[in-house]
Amino acid sequence: MAIATLLPATTAFIQRAPRMLIGAEWVEAADGQTMPLRNPATGEQLCVVPRATVDDVDRAVLAARQAFDDSPWSRTRPRERQNLLWKLADLMQRDAELLAQLECLNNGKSAAVAQVMDVQLAIDFLRYMAGWATKIEGSSVEVSVPLMPDQQFHSFIRREAVGVVGAIVAWNFPLLLACWKLGPALATGCTVVLKPADETPLTALKLAELVQEAGYPDGVFNVVTGTGITAGAALTHNPRVDKLTFTGSTAVGKEIGKIAMDSMTRVTLELGGKSPTIVMADADLGSAAAGAASAIFFNQGQVCCAGSRLYVQRKHFDNVVADIAGIANAMKLGSGLDTSVDMGPLISARQQERVWRYIEMGRESGATIACGGEQFGPGYFVKPTVIVDVDQQHSLVQEEIFGPVLVAIPFDDEADALRMANDSPYGLGASIWSNDLAAVHRMIPRIKSGSVWVNCHSALDPALPFGGYKMSGVGREMGYAAIEHYTELKSVLIKL
Ligand code: NAD
Repeated sequence: MAIATLLPATTAFIQRAPRMLIGAEWVEAADGQTMPLRNPATGEQLCVVPRATVDDVDRAVLAARQAFDDSPWSRTRPRERQNLLWKLADLMQRDAELLAQLECLNNGKSAAVAQVMDVQLAIDFLRYMAGWATKIEGSSVEVSVPLMPDQQFHSFIRREAVGVVGAIVAWNFPLLLACWKLGPALATGCTVVLKPADETPLTALKLAELVQEAGYPDGVFNVVTGTGITAGAALTHNPRVDKLTFTGSTAVGKEIGKIAMDSMTRVTLELGGKSPTIVMADADLGSAAAGAASAIFFNQGQVCCAGSRLYVQRKHFDNVVADIAGIANAMKLGSGLDTSVDMGPLISARQQERVWRYIEMGRESGATIACGGEQFGPGYFVKPTVIVDVDQQHSLVQEEIFGPVLVAIPFDDEADALRMANDSPYGLGASIWSNDLAAVHRMIPRIKSGSVWVNCHSALDPALPFGGYKMSGVGREMGYAAIEHYTELKSVLIKL
């Protein structure tokens, strides 16, 4: 066992009970209420953070509104926005280990993995978005204006920042999800109020310190810590917010979408998933099994696009499942600070209980637990689990479990695989494992999901739009698509 030593800065950050950033001020909640954060590996309390009231959220939105409408930020040039984002990324790089340790203590994930994945992906993404700041373009259009045939016109289309962004994120990749919102917002000149997940606000608060250090004007980035039901709802209903961007469950996303439609607030929703991993008979079965295991077990299965449904062509089904079960059985579970550990705890006792209910449901309905199917503590651990002998219509196959639980089903041919892969309310990602180029290209357009990976899974790049078909959401993050979602088009017609 090799336990990583906490940096003095990590311990100091937690011990000083971090506060929220509203405008230029680091503040407690208006009524002094706090909420406890727990270390998922032990269940012990880490620290407390403010539990924002509706008033706190309103003040944060007002600060963002003023910064957008009437501050030096509203006049910043693209080059300055580019340089500031790059500076922020540099500061995150400087503090990468600290950010990773905070993520580990607060979320349970491996500190070592968080440093090379969560933190590095967030930094790379901000640098990618810094590049877009200087490349936001409108166009000029030669118009006819049939009602005024004798006139001359000059006409152009401007792309303008959408305004104040209310961002609400989930707990599974706290820093990365926050940066997926922050990057395009700051590149385009928006201002932001971020409501991190109830369970995991620590890296968002550290990020806010770095935003200040980078030199952003006050009010450009505000963080309110609190519950979804109070702080999240207050942000969603605030009429001064121009755009809502949400990452979380489909149930909450649907509610936010309805509220946004009512006020015509712009909205993007990154929601749940139940992504299929399809292993064709011709695939390199060894790498397919390893890939399928990592597709579901990475981050304890708490990944929106986790490969949580496995479909294997029938003649290889037993072998591939046995290989994945072998990988799962060899995984060592423990604290994310232990560098020899392969899997950490789930985020909370509630999530452990939810995942456990699904495993029990499988057992009760006669499914076979091929491996795992155990939970333990202290901390919120569930062993990596593979379940077979399940019908395609079973809740285990149709519903998002959001834990290290894989359901595996055999298929007969390409059509059968496509039918089952698409038989889901969700459509976030899918992977195909095959070396048959023609089959792969036949399948890609027929899969109903926002991403398709071939011979890999959950491989993300800042330049590739990410988002869902069907119940997995509305809109896209990353790539130029994100810039489009943080801007409005304005058509201008000048009569000469
Ligand atoms: P959740 O919907 O319970 O919470 C997400 C966020 O919404 C939290 O900040 C929470 O406080 C807030 N919230 C809760 N109720 C609210 C309300 N009534 N009004 C406003 N805000 C409210 O989701 P979760 O359990 O934190 O996260 C897991 C879910 O997130 C999974 O379904 C997962 O698939 C999804 N997710 C999706 C993506 C993606 O990019 N598509 C990425 C990560 C996670």
